[in-house]
Parts: sequence; structure tokens; C-alpha cells
Amino acid sequence: MTTPDGFGADAATAQPPWGFPQSGALPMPETLPLPAALAHLAGGPRYWLPEQPDQATAAVAPAAVSPATAPPAVTPPTAPTAPTAPPTSPPSGFDVEAVRRDFPQLHREVNGRPLVWLDNGATTLKPRQVVEAVGEHYAMGSSNVHRGAHTLAKQATQVYEEGRQAAAELLGTPDQGEIVFVRGTTEAVNLVAQSWGRSNLGVGDEILVSAAEHHSNLVPWQLIAAERRARIRPIPLLPDGQLDQDAYRDLLGSRTRMVALTHASNVLGTVPPVAEMTALAHRYGAKVMVDGAQAVSHFPVDVTALDADFYAFSGHKIFAPTGIGVLFGKRELLEAMPPWQGGGNMIDSVGFEETTYAPIPHRLEAGTGHIAGVAGLRAALQYLAALDREAATAYEEQLTAYAMGMLATVPGLRLIGTAPGKIGVLTFLLAGADPMALAGALDQQGIAVRAGHHCAQPALAAFGLQAAVRASLALYNTVEDVNTLVAALQDVQARSAPTAG
Ligand code: PLP
Repeated sequence: MTTPDGFGADAATAQPPWGFPQSGALPMPETLPLPAALAHLAGGPRYWLPEQPDQATAAVAPAAVSPATAPPAVTPPTAPTAPTAPPTSPPSGFDVEAVRRDFPQLHREVNGRPLVWLDNGATTLKPRQVVEAVGEHYAMGSSNVHRGAHTLAKQATQVYEEGRQAAAELLGTPDQGEIVFVRGTTEAVNLVAQSWGRSNLGVGDEILVSAAEHHSNLVPWQLIAAERRARIRPIPLLPDGQLDQDAYRDLLGSRTRMVALTHASNVLGTVPPVAEMTALAHRYGAKVMVDGAQAVSHFPVDVTALDADFYAFSGHKIFAPTGIGVLFGKRELLEAMPPWQGGGNMIDSVGFEETTYAPIPHRLEAGTGHIAGVAGLRAALQYLAALDREAATAYEEQLTAYAMGMLATVPGLRLIGTAPGKIGVLTFLLAGADPMALAGALDQQGIAVRAGHHCAQPALAAFGLQAAVRASLALYNTVEDVNTLVAALQDVQARSAPTAG
């Protein structure tokens, strides 16, 4: 079987050029059986409702690990080893319990257990302030923006443009014209690839893409490279998940036009030295597209200090709604870019002879935007701005260090990505456990983690893998969340260990 990125089942063992020699890689199962424990989801999740015991599925619920590793029915579950390592005391200025009170979903149950949400890399939960802002827009403030002279249009426009202002402040640019609303990171990269790429890439030009990228900062470049007959060149990884800086320096050259870089990897947690890499790229006249999808919620970002040419993030990964995101671009670059979509809102005047376009950012925002989404984004960014962000970042760093230490105590657990300064993205394998089945087992305990390729197949392939489990932290996670995860993993491991005799 070959995946769209060209890796098949055999690729798990064959090293791609950006990979490195493996030692002691855990064997990956060829098939990913759906655990019986997940079968109840076929009926659809019951959002907001407390979980009811489900008689139909209760009988199959305990089958949490794959049959090959499941214990005999008579074996009593091994008691989880109580985590002993104490957390360092949280930094002053950050009250995690107060923050948790703002997130209603943290207080629901899943499968009869209190929810432990460790799938923040996929999406973050929303504080009630965001839910209320979206509800208020639809309930009382519905209107289109930038059109019409009536009061509600003016109010909606004000909220919309305040959302832009909040995004500019989050990213550290004083120029709101540099903030383009998009659906999310994926659309932002596609916009740059289709607009900037089409007018700036030619035959034989090179786009350097780090091997840690999410597919959304790779595939749009592949599409435009194929069209413009340009070439994609991967920046390889080191065994701990850092980007190989020597290789990067060697790859840069007079043909380099674009460097596509993550600001925080969604599978390895690596935070590359983006400012230094950008400065190097600029020496060759190349531009840099930074994917900040996983960065913005974890640490303060300053595009001016980074000197990033383009920077993208998705609202839903920073406590805001889905369907809204932001592209930052330097003014001179955005102004030189042709529209990539045509329609309403993006024009100055339209005639059959000639059409002229609105100034940035509107020229790149054809059609009605996600107005309620911006209202929610504004609320999320205001919520974040009201927190002590340095203290929140310090808290997350401590929690990440604690989680890495605790995961290391689980027998047979292999952590993928151990670069210094990584964010709380903890991707791992557990010996003998299929990642999907393991995620299903954790789900039965109310623990939400993700399993699969995490839309970063090249990054996993560099480690000789096709799938892994990922627990990803946010500022509302706690030491108790980590302890619950570790105890559940130890339980799974103990159940699957061969019994004496
Ligand atoms: N980049 C990274 C690092 C991500 O983690 C994700 C989503 O998981 C994306 C890009 C794509 O974001 P979206 O699907 O919101 O466009």
C-alpha cells in the first residue's frame, strides 16, 4: 500500500533521505484494528450530555488492547503504580484551577470518567467567553460587515476589525493591514503558495521544507512546485527531533526561494530556531513561511523579532472557533501579491473593461468572512491577553518536563521527539500495543489522545514509523491529568505483560 506522500508499509523500515539510522525501533503492526471499545462511537458522540452507561456496548468495553496482548479474562487488573515524582511548584501569576473553571468541557464526563483532554494538538477547548461571544453574535448581533450604513453592520464591523487588531497584537505587528483572515493555517499556506508562489517561483527554483512539517506546510508547496516546475528539498531531522542545522546551511543556495518552517512541530514538539533560520534564508534572498499553528497557544510570538515573511495560525488551536485563522504577511509582500480568489469585498471597482482591487488585507479576503468566528477569535485573544502569558508558558514548560519524566517511568514506552525546549506534544509508542488500540483503551478511561500519522507522515517516517500515540498539553492541563494518563498506560502495560506459568 502506498500513501499519497509515497510511503507504503515498507517505508516504515526503509529510511527516507531526511531520516536517520534507527536503533531499537519498536515494530509497528501492519494493521490497525479498531478496538471494540470504540464501537459505541458509531452511533455518534453525544455532545454536552453526561455519558449514560451503554448496555449495548458494556459487554465489549473492556477489550481495550488488541487481542494478541489482552490478558486472560481471569487476570485481575494490575494496580497502577502511583506516580511519585512531585511537580515543581507552579509559577506565581498562573492559577490553573481558575483557568479550568472557564472551560466547561473540562468538567464533563466521557465513558463514565472525568474527561482528561490531552488532544490539544488537534484542537483546544473553548472558554465560556468564546462560546458566549459566538452565541451573542448570532443571537443579537447578526449582520454582515463592511457593508451597509445600519447600526448592526457598524457594530459587527467594529468587532471584526477589533479581532484583526487582537491578532496583530498577538503576533507583534503594529500594522493591521498585515493580518489576513483565512479559514485556518491550511488556507493561509495555500494562499501564499498560490498567490506569492505563482508569481515568484520558476523552473528549477527550490523550496526548502522541514521534515517536521504538518502536511499543510508541505502539500500546498508540492502543488505549486509541480505547476511552476520548482523543486521541494527536505530539511532533515536529528534523532531527537531537532532540524539538522548543518544540512539546512548546505541546502540553502542561490536557487532557494522559500523556506517552509514550523514554529512548533505537532508531532515532535520541536521548536526550531526560527529567527536564526530566517536570518540565514534572508541572506540568500529567500522568503520564510512559518507555520505557527502549534506555537501561538504555547508561547508568546513576535513576527517582527522573528523577521518572518509569512506566519499562519488557526483559531481553533488557540481556544477560538474552527473555521477562522490568520495569515500574517509583511506589507510589501502582501501588496505585491495578486488576488488568489475573486469576488465581493476584495475589489475597488469592477467593470467589464477593468477591475481594480481593494488595498490589503481585503484584497486577499474575497467573499463574506467568518464573522462569528472572528468574534470568537477576538474573545479568545482577549482571554489570553488577560492571563499572565509568561507565567502560563512557564507552567506549561514545567508540566511538559514533568510529563516527560513520568512517561519515562512506563515500561516499554518510547517517546518520539526529545528536543530541548519542546512544547508539550508527547508522541509515543508502547511496546506491544497498537497505537489505535491504545488510544481506544485510554478513551475508555476518559482520556482523549490522538493516534495515527498526525498529518505529518514524513516526520514519523524519519523515525521509521507510520503511526504513534500523541498526548498534547495546553495551559489548562494539570499534574493530575498527566498522572491519570501515566497510570492508565501502566495499567495497559501490566495487563499485556506475559503472566508467569
Ligand atoms: N500546522 C500544524 C503544525 C498543525 O498542527 C495543524 C493542525 O493540526 C495545521 C497546520 C493545520 O491546521 P488547520 O487544519 O486548522 O488548517
